[in-house]
Amino acid sequence: MNVSAELECWKCGASLASILLPFRRLEVCPECDAEVHVCRMCEFYDPSVVEACVEDNAEEVRDKERANFCDYFKPIPDTYQARDSSAAQAARTELDTLFSRGSSAETSKSTSTRRELDELFGDSDDSG
Ligand SMILES: [Zn+2]
Repeated sequence: MNVSAELECWKCGASLASILLPFRRLEVCPECDAEVHVCRMCEFYDPSVVEACVEDNAEEVRDKERANFCDYFKPIPDTYQARDSSAAQAARTELDTLFSRGSSAETSKSTSTRRELDELFGDSDDSG
């Protein structure tokens, strides 16, 4: 099981595929040097609950962005996207579709999206 291939830095979104699992306690992101053995990367992290942890047996970790000693630490993907606006992510997906190579099945969708972009960035007719 090569879960790390899907993991992203909770802070900058960089791929953590180069880091072997399980994370060592002082493992850091190759891009931004953020510590990755942290609550923010963990399956049990939930800012809506007490101590921001849904694992009852885990000891309290006061700093959610610093390396912890938690035995229950389990890194999960998408910890970065959770902080991003979904709108930005959607826009990026649209652009990826536009510039993707050889996806003829998406042609009609790409065309309509391209037209919307042209209208957004093109000249309007009501000038002059
Ligand atoms: Zn990072």
